[in-house]
Amino acid sequence: MGDTKLYDLLGVSPNSSDFEIRKAYRRLAKEYHPDKNPEEGEKFKEISFAYEVLSDSNKREIYDMHGIKGLQEGRHEDGFSDDIFSHIFGGGLFGGMGMGFGGGRRRKQRGEDTVHPLKVSLEDLYNGKTTKLQLSKTVICSTCYGEGGKRGSSQPCRNCHGQGIKVTLRQLGPGMVQQMQSVCSDCRGEGEVINERDRCKICKGNKTVSEKKILEVYVDKGMQDGQRIQFKGEGDQKPGMEPGDVLIILQEKPHTYFQRNGNDLYMSHKINLTEALCGFSVAVKHLDGRDLIIRHLPGEVIKPGTLKGVQGEGMPIYRDPFERGNLYVKLDVEFPSDHFLDEENLELLEKLLPDRPLSNIPEGEHVEEVDLHDYDPNTSRQGSHSRSRISEAYDSDEEGGVHMGPGVQCTHQ
Ligand SMILES: [Zn+2]
Ligand SMILES: [Zn+2]
Repeated sequence: MGDTKLYDLLGVSPNSSDFEIRKAYRRLAKEYHPDKNPEEGEKFKEISFAYEVLSDSNKREIYDMHGIKGLQEGRHEDGFSDDIFSHIFGGGLFGGMGMGFGGGRRRKQRGEDTVHPLKVSLEDLYNGKTTKLQLSKTVICSTCYGEGGKRGSSQPCRNCHGQGIKVTLRQLGPGMVQQMQSVCSDCRGEGEVINERDRCKICKGNKTVSEKKILEVYVDKGMQDGQRIQFKGEGDQKPGMEPGDVLIILQEKPHTYFQRNGNDLYMSHKINLTEALCGFSVAVKHLDGRDLIIRHLPGEVIKPGTLKGVQGEGMPIYRDPFERGNLYVKLDVEFPSDHFLDEENLELLEKLLPDRPLSNIPEGEHVEEVDLHDYDPNTSRQGSHSRSRISEAYDSDEEGGVHMGPGVQCTHQ
């Protein structure tokens, strides 16, 4: 037998009985328990691990035959590569313990962050706002200082031997074991338990209590949808753990007429034909309550779908109080309804409007006059009959085809 390190740790001989091993473990566990010997945490872990292996006949047999490497890697004469075994073991518990134990220093673990969404209006993001947010969080019990009971009343958990995790090995084949880890149910992964009568009355041995906490969230001007506001160390507290952060995540509510894109604001506005041709003014209620009068002087014609900008009337830029994005207005032009003028007035209007384009209307026996009607997709016939007639008209009348409107062309595929 080569490797006797686990027996040495417990101070027993490799021929010891299960009873002797258990007795040795109990004596050492008391001596090196972190409550009495906080500096000996690593030693306690090693002892617990040794007991974990030697108290299990299966694991003890593998260890006796092949040493710690046997538990870690399996038997090399089976021809399995290290890769297969590290795959099966997943490098978990054995990872830091390979060479002579006690390698990995224990770093203080950090708790999880608490994430909270906060709905904010575009007005809030434009003007800035302070909101009070009430959260309930877990804090260390102030009665027992997170001990869970009287000082020194906690004992290493018997179920997991103070490891907090249960490791079970399953024999898959000769020299091949699968290792499965699960959180110990007796101590909920803490590795120690407190007798019922010694438990703290306030936290009932849980070490922590729930508390209401009010956070003052300052929503800064120009903040964006999805932006995080961090409250360092305000997350849930747990003994022996550095608390995580509280993260407030802003969720921008949709606005009735403004849409935001980065630091720019967009809005649509309908104008009628008169306004498009003769100029207009429109009042827009801005996000800070100002009435913005957007004026468009007569002279420049607004075409449907035109995008116009107002410089510096967009969102404030985050942490740059003197800079602002732009406001863009998309102008939709509404045309007048049918028969808004009688024929006489249409003639008057025509005199004011630009001239019609010159067009040569052909005459002769090849010319046929047709009526335009509204396009209706349900009655659209895309058959070969109508197509051939149209293409015939284009082919035979090369100069004249141009004057047909797009409504007619739609049947010409
Ligand atoms: Zn308590
Ligand atoms: Zn346990």
